[in-house]
Amino acid sequence: MSIEEQLEDYKNSEQFTEDISWYENECFLEGRPVPSDEEIPTILLAEKKAQLEAQMLCDTQGHRYEEVNADGENGRSDLDCQRCGQVFRCQW
Ligand SMILES: [Zn+2]
Repeated sequence: MSIEEQLEDYKNSEQFTEDISWYENECFLEGRPVPSDEEIPTILLAEKKAQLEAQMLCDTQGHRYEEVNADGENGRSDLDCQRCGQVFRCQW
């Protein structure tokens, strides 16, 4: 599946809606100005795209991931690449 297709899937997923609320909440908690309803989806999609691209690169290069910050309650964890140090959040 191409990055564009994955982004399209993400845009139509429930996760996307959840991520928008999560993002708003994060800004609020960090005392940052909360972007507008039009801006947040754009920011999230750009982040997702960068994540997918980096992930694809790591897959191609065979990087190693180690699971960190596992959050069983929310079914989330971060994958920390042992080689290039990139961190990906994943939902399971
Ligand atoms: Zn890597």
